[in-house]
Amino acid sequence: MANTTTDDSRKENNQDLTLERSNASFNINEITEIIDGGVDKTKFRKEMEKLLFDDPLFKDFYKNFFKTRSELYEESIARGVQLFSLRQKYKWTDQQFEVIEDLVNHLFGMSLHFTMFIPSLERLATETQKAKWLPLATNFRILGTYAQTEMGHGTYLQGLETTATYDPVTEEFILNTPHKSSMKWWPGSLGKSSTHAVVQAVLIINGKNYGMHPFVLQLRSLDNHMPLPGIEVGDIGPKMTLNYNDNGFLLLKNVRIPRQHMLMKHAQVSSDGKYTSSGPNKAIYATMVLVRVKMTKWVHDALRKAITTAVRYSAVRHQSKMDDSGPEPQILDYQTQQYKLFPVLADTYALFFMSRNLRRQYNRMMEDIRNKGSYKMLAE
Ligand SMILES: Cc1cc2nc3c(=O)[nH]c(=O)nc-3n(C[C@H](O)[C@H](O)[C@H](O)COP(=O)(O)OP(=O)(O)OC[C@H]3O[C@@H](n4cnc5c(N)ncnc54)[C@H](O)[C@@H]3O)c2cc1C
Repeated sequence: MANTTTDDSRKENNQDLTLERSNASFNINEITEIIDGGVDKTKFRKEMEKLLFDDPLFKDFYKNFFKTRSELYEESIARGVQLFSLRQKYKWTDQQFEVIEDLVNHLFGMSLHFTMFIPSLERLATETQKAKWLPLATNFRILGTYAQTEMGHGTYLQGLETTATYDPVTEEFILNTPHKSSMKWWPGSLGKSSTHAVVQAVLIINGKNYGMHPFVLQLRSLDNHMPLPGIEVGDIGPKMTLNYNDNGFLLLKNVRIPRQHMLMKHAQVSSDGKYTSSGPNKAIYATMVLVRVKMTKWVHDALRKAITTAVRYSAVRHQSKMDDSGPEPQILDYQTQQYKLFPVLADTYALFFMSRNLRRQYNRMMEDIRNKGSYKMLAE
């Protein structure tokens, strides 16, 4: 999976690697372009490598292993700010930004703002709501995340316990996380960074449960970044990985928000508390589907880097002797080493093509939703 180049830098490579590459039975440039998605995309990736890796913020990621959580968090925020301003400057498309995310190993803060918060507004808000929230979000006047998962439930969305009870007298929703198990748990960028969140909560009107619906909730003051009344929010603590990300928890106690803060593209609550639905409720979880699809790519990205490192190391590392007179062979020549590496290498390619196919299916599903209003490809 190495993106081998034919420029001068290759001449400085280790002799073993150069020899292995020259023995390739396939055209390296061709496979590189297949993986990137075409000649133009390979060109774009290489230009971006040059742009980013000349910047000290994006160099020497290996040093992260020596850093504290605070250092990791602060640097990831600095990288996020830099990437978002470059994104605005160069007008990168979503697809181009995904290439950049991969190049920087996803090690930048506030990614949820683009992967979940803005897409939720785009897909779940009415035109009036979009006109209000999107300019604030795209100009970074507010920073958002997406809070769906709770301590008690992740997969089983019908089990979510956070409530949004409508009060027709004040025309507000009252948000509560009534039990410990209803605490929002995991959302990225929630612990320290976000000012706002799209919160999924069970809608209750006159005691009747209408199921999960999305609400825009301001979490923190825009003046001093302190949590607003009734809101307890913080970081869930150190994790086995992703420690640069402030994955967070959220507890809500009688937090009142205006009726207009329910995202009402697919379902509406009128001022006197009448519920109407103008689309399938499957649309409400569609935003999470994109992240699930992207996750298969993120897994592939991680595996691709790991197997590339392992194969390259096995080519340059010499160890033990086949017989007393000969040199120590490359460990890549040992069958047992090949047995460890090659199935994973094959799996990595399989995962890559599966993930690309899944993304195409997702894009088709979105086209069906946009053009035909059909949600057939989404499960019940
Ligand atoms: C790094 C990270 C970032 C995250 N970011 C966010 C975020 O920004 N916002 C947010 O809202 N959430 C976020 N999450 C939460 C994530 O969406 C949930 O972890 C996920 O939905 C799974 O829920 P769970 O952890 O409660 O697992 P569970 O639902 O308890 O599942 C546990 C296991 O049981 C399996 N399982 C459960 N039900 C079934 C079934 N019906 N059939 C077969 N297998 C089943 C699951 O596949 C899983 O292996 C994040 C999680 C992580 C790890």
